[in-house]
Amino acid sequence: MKYAVGVDLGGTTVKIGIFTEDAKVVSKWEIKTRKEENGSLILPDIAASVLENLKKQGIDKADVKGLGLGVPGGVQPDGSVHSCVNLGWGRVHVKEEMEKLTGFPVYPGNDANIAALGEAWQGGGKGCSNTVMVTLGTGVGGGIIVNGKIVVGTSGFGGEIGHMKMNMHETETCGCGKKGCLEQYASATGIARMAKRMLAETNEPTVLAGKEFVSAKDVFDAAKEGDKVALQIVDEVCAILALGLSYIGCVCDPEAFIIGGGVSKAGSILTEAIERHYMDNVFGDLKKVKFVLATLGNDAGIYGGAKLALGE
Ligand code: ZN
Repeated sequence: MKYAVGVDLGGTTVKIGIFTEDAKVVSKWEIKTRKEENGSLILPDIAASVLENLKKQGIDKADVKGLGLGVPGGVQPDGSVHSCVNLGWGRVHVKEEMEKLTGFPVYPGNDANIAALGEAWQGGGKGCSNTVMVTLGTGVGGGIIVNGKIVVGTSGFGGEIGHMKMNMHETETCGCGKKGCLEQYASATGIARMAKRMLAETNEPTVLAGKEFVSAKDVFDAAKEGDKVALQIVDEVCAILALGLSYIGCVCDPEAFIIGGGVSKAGSILTEAIERHYMDNVFGDLKKVKFVLATLGNDAGIYGGAKLALGE
C-alpha cells in the first residue's frame, strides 16, 4: 500500500492528513502555525509532525509517494513563494526546503487551487475531470481543474476568479486595489455590502430593515422565509456571480461548478439562483453543466494535497 500526505497551511493552523492511494484517511490532525521569526519555524514544524505521525502509524517513509502542500499565495513553477504576508514569509523555496526536511517529493500549490483539486477528487465534483470550484468566504477564491489537472498558470495565479472585474462603474476599492471585482459582490462581505446598498434604496417592508449590520447569513435566512427584499438581494448577487461563472464556462466548459466556503451553507437557494442566471448567459451544450455544493468543508485542502502528491 502506498500513501500520500496532504497539508493545508493556513495563517492560524496547519491541517495535515495521511491518505491511502484509494483516498482513505489514515490519520488527520492540526498543528499551530508559528509565524514568529518570519515564519521560519513553519516548514520544520510541519515536517517534524508528519514524520512523527508516520512513525506512529507504522508507515515506512519509502511507501510515501509524496506530500502536497497548499499555501495561501501564488506558488511559482519551481515550487517557491515570492511572498506570503499571512505567514510572515518573504521569498521561501517551499519545495526544496520541505524535500530536504522530509526526504520525499513535495508538491506545493496555491491553497484555493488545491482545495479545488480535493473537491474534484473526493468531494462535490467526484467523478468529473473538468470542474471549477468557487469558494465564497470572506473573499472569493477559485480553482480550475481541466482534464484532472489544476490550471496553475505562469505565476501560480490561475483560478484567481475573485478579482475578475464585473463592474466598470464601481466606486469602492477591492482588497486587491482595483474596483469592481467579483469578490466585492459575491463574498460574505460583498453580500453584506450589497445588502446595505439595496436596503438604502428600497421602501419595501423587510425583516432586514433597521438592523445595524446585515450579514450574508441574515440575507439568506430572510430569503428562505420569503422576504421579498432579501430575495432581491440574493437574486442580484447570484446574477453577478453567474455572469462571472458564465465567462469561465465559455473558456473551459466544465462538467460541474462546485460552490464552497461559508456562504455556501445557504444551500440550494444559492445554487438554484446561480444556475437560473447562468443558463440565461450561455448557449448550447454549455447549459449541461451542474451546480453542486462542496462536501469536504475544511478538509478539501488536505484531500487536494494528497491527490497532488499521488499524481493529478
Ligand atoms: Zn479585487
